Amino acid sequence: MGKQRLYLFDTTLRDGAQTSGVDFTLADKLAIAGMLDELGIDYIEGGYPGANPTDTELFGTPRKFNATFTAFGMTRRPGRSASNDPGLAAVLEAKTDAICLVAKTWDYHVRIALETTKEENLASIRDSVRAAQARRREVLLDCEHFFDGYKSNPKYALACAKAAHDAGARWVVLCDTNGGTLPNEVEKIVGEVVKVVPGDHIGIHAHNDTEQAVANSFAAVHAGARQIQGTLNGLGERCGNANLVSIIPTLKLKPEFAGFEIGVSDAQLKKLVHVSHALDERLNRASNRHAPYVGESAFATKAGIHASAIMKDPATYEHVTPESVGNKRKVLVSEQAGKSNILAELERIGIKADKDDPRIARLLEVVKEREAIGYAYEAADASFEMLARRMLGTVPNYFDVTQFDVNVEQRNNAKGERVTVSMAVVKVKVGDENLISAAEGNGPVNALDQALRKDLGKYQKYIEGLKLTDYRVRILNAGTEAVTRVLIESEDETSDHWTTIGVSSNIIDASFQALMDSIVYKLVKSGAPA
Ligand SMILES: [Zn+2]
Repeated sequence: MGKQRLYLFDTTLRDGAQTSGVDFTLADKLAIAGMLDELGIDYIEGGYPGANPTDTELFGTPRKFNATFTAFGMTRRPGRSASNDPGLAAVLEAKTDAICLVAKTWDYHVRIALETTKEENLASIRDSVRAAQARRREVLLDCEHFFDGYKSNPKYALACAKAAHDAGARWVVLCDTNGGTLPNEVEKIVGEVVKVVPGDHIGIHAHNDTEQAVANSFAAVHAGARQIQGTLNGLGERCGNANLVSIIPTLKLKPEFAGFEIGVSDAQLKKLVHVSHALDERLNRASNRHAPYVGESAFATKAGIHASAIMKDPATYEHVTPESVGNKRKVLVSEQAGKSNILAELERIGIKADKDDPRIARLLEVVKEREAIGYAYEAADASFEMLARRMLGTVPNYFDVTQFDVNVEQRNNAKGERVTVSMAVVKVKVGDENLISAAEGNGPVNALDQALRKDLGKYQKYIEGLKLTDYRVRILNAGTEAVTRVLIESEDETSDHWTTIGVSSNIIDASFQALMDSIVYKLVKSGAPA
């Protein structure tokens, strides 16, 4: 018998954006969508067109993804026609493949929040689904408060689900909006729903208020649902949504789910740690070391009997292999294990290296020293590559910055307004040529960047297409001293992007390191001659 297809729907960019402290820019959204796409997620919900300028811009242009790009919105308001509802119109206008509409399915909410009749709410569901279908979009209907609604009035909740399905919705998504439903209840209720709407049209959208959103998602699958909605790292309002980062490997690796197939391949599964950590870096927050599967400690064992058993056979204390999700086993700091990590990393970026080359052992040492003082090479692929290439002797010394000077000045401008301006002067030696550039910027780092990239002599043409797309700062507490970690994301004319890092007690110095790595990376990448 063939495997049954389970679909994954990510709502990090919509429900995840409700997380307190999270505020995605357009660049964030595009970068995260790109990661989700690389991971093999089936549906990416981008946001709520019309609700804010970022989402409106996001949906104003057709986006190319393997995944089905989805816009979110509300069913038509009571008393209005589908063609005369500006909210619905904004969603229907969105340049997407699919539309996910949310509707009330709890009679209590229909009465209190919508102040309308149950019949009018059913009509709203039907009309809205049909309107989206008429635009040739795949339609999903989110049944808000479905489980609480079912408990209060099962007949009405089921009628809502059936109305959406009958009107042509591809998916009817059952939402545990308050997040308080328990797995046994989810399984029982979904079991009733699939008698009315076939399971391969049912999705589950669980919130994590009893820390069982993942378990609730699986309970729904057991009962017949075939789409799981969730977010990366369980982002979301209050206690978050179902965590896809835990759901994906469980579906892939546990014999329990061997009868199912998802869009994430074994190779894509190996990117899971990277994706999870990259999201945290983007949110400028520390990753949860103890996160299942992907946490730094998920496969770490302290010395003792566990460690010696693990050395003999890792399966003794591991429920899955760390490599399957791109994680690493940590047992003491074994020289050999560390070296194989470095070799794997070099292979990943296309550098051939011999495992017995003494420079590899030295590279490992330097990485460990630097990570101990705050560098995070996992988040800064290009800086790792530059470090490795330098130590293996494959980076030409293109230029030297012999001196730089950055100043910040506060003064009155010609209009008598108080302004703060920054200026940088950079002296660069390219071959025998000494070049001096000066630039103003809206801040010291911006001024330094402008000056540094203003004139690199014969190399200038290789960096013309270089753009900085993101700049993130974190203060780390290393012992008693605070150090600054700067991560810079760059992009070039080929839409390639990379991240570089700098660490220093001085923010300008940390930024300078990251800027330099990015420029040199671009020169190497462009094949600039030595
Ligand atoms: Zn939700």
